[in-house]
Amino acid sequence: VTDVTTGFGDPTTHAFWDAAARGELVLQRCTACGAHQFYPRPFCLACNATGLEWVAAGGGGTVYATTTVHMRVSPDLEPPYVVAVVELDEGPRLTTNLVDGEAPIGARVRLAWREREGAPPLPVFAPEAGAA
Ligand SMILES: [Zn+2]
Repeated sequence: VTDVTTGFGDPTTHAFWDAAARGELVLQRCTACGAHQFYPRPFCLACNATGLEWVAAGGGGTVYATTTVHMRVSPDLEPPYVVAVVELDEGPRLTTNLVDGEAPIGARVRLAWREREGAPPLPVFAPEAGAA
């Protein structure tokens, strides 16, 4: 995917973090059955094949579940904040944070990034412009 390596993650996930450092959300796609998956694994969840390629996600998704966290569980996150499961347009669901406004279950959201100190940015999601 890239010739720049952040050295972040393990051999299964480093391509994901390298892409994140470029502002690109990547998923694995099985070269045997075409299934997309996230988070990265060394084999396809659908058919167990080990031929997996990295593809860029479109960045669109739908809120599948959401909860507001009121207690501080991480020094990086100021409560309250919203934890959500976002179903990407490609199919995989990922646990993430919702930022920049409210997005109820079923709402369209777009990929954004939260910058971090000393690590690649984290994918987060914001309400799609014009929605809600
Ligand atoms: Zn497969």
